[in-house]
Amino acid sequence: MFEEIKIGIIGGGQLGSMLIRYAIDFGLNVSVLDIDPEAPCSRYSNSFHLGDPLKFEDVVNFGKNLDIVTIEKEAVDVTALKRLRDIGVKVYPSPETLEIIQDKYLQKEYLKKFDIPVAMGWLITDKEELSRHADKLPAVLKKCTQGYDGRGVLKLRTVEDISKAFNGPCVLEELVDIRQEISVIVSRSESGIIECYDPVHMVFDEERMLLDFQICPADLDNDTAVRICTIAKQVAKAVDLTGIMAVEMFVASNGKVYVNELAPRPHNSGHHTIEAARTSQFEQQIRLILGLPMGRTDSTMPSAMINILEPAAHRKQAIMNALKTILFADNVHLHWYGKRGGIEGRKMGHITITDVQREEAIAKSIMIRHILKCGHA
Ligand code: ADP
Repeated sequence: MFEEIKIGIIGGGQLGSMLIRYAIDFGLNVSVLDIDPEAPCSRYSNSFHLGDPLKFEDVVNFGKNLDIVTIEKEAVDVTALKRLRDIGVKVYPSPETLEIIQDKYLQKEYLKKFDIPVAMGWLITDKEELSRHADKLPAVLKKCTQGYDGRGVLKLRTVEDISKAFNGPCVLEELVDIRQEISVIVSRSESGIIECYDPVHMVFDEERMLLDFQICPADLDNDTAVRICTIAKQVAKAVDLTGIMAVEMFVASNGKVYVNELAPRPHNSGHHTIEAARTSQFEQQIRLILGLPMGRTDSTMPSAMINILEPAAHRKQAIMNALKTILFADNVHLHWYGKRGGIEGRKMGHITITDVQREEAIAKSIMIRHILKCGHA
């Protein structure tokens, strides 16, 4: 039965720990690999392996005796995943899918081949080359690899900004006049069945380029909503996905839709599916990598989701008091990740608010964000 299936999760952060929660429902035997001995999963798996997901040996040693290996972050050694697959371990997403997604330029070029709309971009090898592209400013500079949560993304408005540019390979991308940032969790079975969760509107903190809160369903006209889901499905097919994937998109002010980024794993923008969809993104991932039937992806209720970031040290007690106040409200669900504190701005948890009325969920989330910021109602 299921307890005989040995599953490995590479990455032991909050996404991994939420995946474990659903793996428990299936009675699975879960191992986790992470470089940080204090990663959240270290407390939830008695088979927690300390090792570097970017090191070939660590990944192969971790996975070689498992049946299925999956990921909760993209920064994983792909050669090791290929080796695991060659020795008979099932790997989801496929190493090839991951390879495309690990490099922002490669990803863009790959999607273009399938006529998937992406913003125009130019490969830049170093700062010196960047100054030869000054005519393309204003634009956005993105590190090709290893960028996340806005680290590795820089808006270049004028030539003076070039001095702040990253070293190493980057993509210089046209600046899109964004009306809405949308994410769709798409779900694809090994046999090719594809379904989309309802699109989510993500609202970013402009300064830190970090997700502030999100609303599901996004406020989209029918035509755009259909177009977005069609594109998400095209992307899932193009990368031959098995499992779930977040497809982040921009809706530009002229109505055009661009695919910005892919994450072939459970994603921050799918947290609301725990309380507000028929099947959570985590259960869906477990079902799909086990080859079980896909769960329903429709929403059960509108929702809003707020990330809780590590506050400045002097505000810790205020946040704790605020959480106690917030939890008096109905249909407010706290997820605390149990991460080591001390890094201001780090994602420490999230709150999902559900309501039969979308506007009510939004109103409540505005109030909760205010309480979190100010410490009182
Ligand atoms: P990360 O991989 O760090 O999440 P993203 O590519 O998602 O980086 O970019 C972070 C944020 O920067 C986006 O959510 C968006 O707000 C902004 N951004 C990224 N690309 C563009 C673009 N081409 N035009 C305008 N804004 C952009």
